[in-house]
Amino acid sequence: MKDETQSLANKPDLVDMFSRTISYLRLSLTDRCNLRCMYCMPLDSKGGLQVLKHEDLLSYEELLRIVGLVVPMGMNKIRLTGGEPLVRKGVMGFIAALSQIDGLDEIRLTTNGVLLKEKAAGLYAAGIRKLNISLDTLRPERFKKITGLDLFDQVWQGIEAAVEFGFDVKLNVVAMRDINDDELIDFAGLAVDKPYQIRFIEFMPVGRDSSWDKNTYISSSELKERIGAMGTLEPLPGCRLDGPARMYSLTAADGATGRVGFISPISHHFCDTCNRLRLTSAGRLRACLLHDREADLKALLRSGGTDDEIRALIKQTILDKPKGHTLAENQAACSGQMSRIGG
Ligand code: SAM
Ligand code: SF4
Repeated sequence: MKDETQSLANKPDLVDMFSRTISYLRLSLTDRCNLRCMYCMPLDSKGGLQVLKHEDLLSYEELLRIVGLVVPMGMNKIRLTGGEPLVRKGVMGFIAALSQIDGLDEIRLTTNGVLLKEKAAGLYAAGIRKLNISLDTLRPERFKKITGLDLFDQVWQGIEAAVEFGFDVKLNVVAMRDINDDELIDFAGLAVDKPYQIRFIEFMPVGRDSSWDKNTYISSSELKERIGAMGTLEPLPGCRLDGPARMYSLTAADGATGRVGFISPISHHFCDTCNRLRLTSAGRLRACLLHDREADLKALLRSGGTDDEIRALIKQTILDKPKGHTLAENQAACSGQMSRIGG
């Protein structure tokens, strides 16, 4: 493991006002999606969905320029997200180009899995090894209700294809009372039976039209208690934190074990160890998912911004990163659209 003092010394541009080193960039490649998850893509009052025009997205050339600047500053990990990153035309070529950037240690992807079966081989060839796949139900009819489309089987085949290709797969489940909380044990059972981690995420109030309410929200402590009924949950000491997830081993009654994680942005926020910077699909830098302050990097790029000016804006955004989110006091703190910001 790298000596922390040394890595801080090597990354002065990336250290914020609270001594956090911001070494992880999340790119929202598009705000479009082939699903319509009820909590993520609410329709507007006229029943429509507002998405960006293609020219309002950063082009792949612009994105590569930015990544080419931040990697030498010390950012060594990138996650591609959205919207659904795999629906953007040309994404495989973009990933291949990203993987050629010296010093970029890891490219990860968050996907809904709809296109995974057809794209798994290409993603593996492009150098991606870690996938987060979002799945909130194991029941096809409920999948249609939550996501608006009848594509459970396709997603499931995508997950199986990813495992066969050798990807490290994490399944992300947003836990929602009276929507999917009768499946907590089924999901936890998958962690024991299958070679992937299951991570339960607390439902967050994101977006102006969010369907969030306090009755639907379930805290991680409640989730742990309910999952604990199927076996023994033990915190994993060596990797207590896997990104923002608190990791546990789960041993079922028959002795089989697996790993489950809990991501608790609301009940036990992880702001003091947050190492993330986001670039939204609208080309705006955002230092905190749950805080609306953004810097317009696209405007700078398109008005002829020099490399030095771009680096300066990135550095300033990092310096402006808030200490933590304020959702506990103010649930309207984040009015941005999740698919645009990049979950
Ligand atoms: N389309 C891809 C997917 O679904 O994996 C990537 C983008 S999606 C916005 C990223 C993640 O954000 C998904 O796991 C989704 O479940 C999660 N998410 C979206 N809205 C959320 C909310 N209000 N609370 C918690 N998680 C949310
Ligand atoms: Fe699409 Fe992902 Fe949002 Fe669902 S959570 S609508 S799959 S972007």
